[in-house]
Amino acid sequence: MTDVEKSLEELCVERGMRMTEQRRVIARVLEASDDHPDVEELYRRSSAVDSRISISTVYRTVKLFEDAGIIERHDFRDGRSRYETVPDEHHDHLIDLKSGEVIEFHSPEIEALQERIAREHGFKLVDHRLELYGIPLKEGE
Ligand SMILES: [Zn+2]
Repeated sequence: MTDVEKSLEELCVERGMRMTEQRRVIARVLEASDDHPDVEELYRRSSAVDSRISISTVYRTVKLFEDAGIIERHDFRDGRSRYETVPDEHHDHLIDLKSGEVIEFHSPEIEALQERIAREHGFKLVDHRLELYGIPLKEGE
């Protein structure tokens, strides 16, 4: 992390959130996770740091962070909401349907194409979500 980037805790404080010790732990766990964890996984990691943290606290806290726009919620079709900190650089996701692994990628061609499509429909593109779902190729495929 470069020093111009703000930590999740700093962003929370900036938005006027009261940062309890438990919220700080959950913020730090989120920040340290690069695997798009769901609430149960966040609960496992947070309660390992502070055993007083309950799963309902994790639920409430991620909702709070999400409503404040400092984390993103994803639905990768496995029935679980998954979370990540809002990235500095935009990326899209490729989901391995076999293992559930989430791969991040960025394609300048896709970005440009999406902007062009929006423009052709008379729109300025302000946001998009793209998820690819796949299974690993077998050798020779
Ligand atoms: Zn991601």
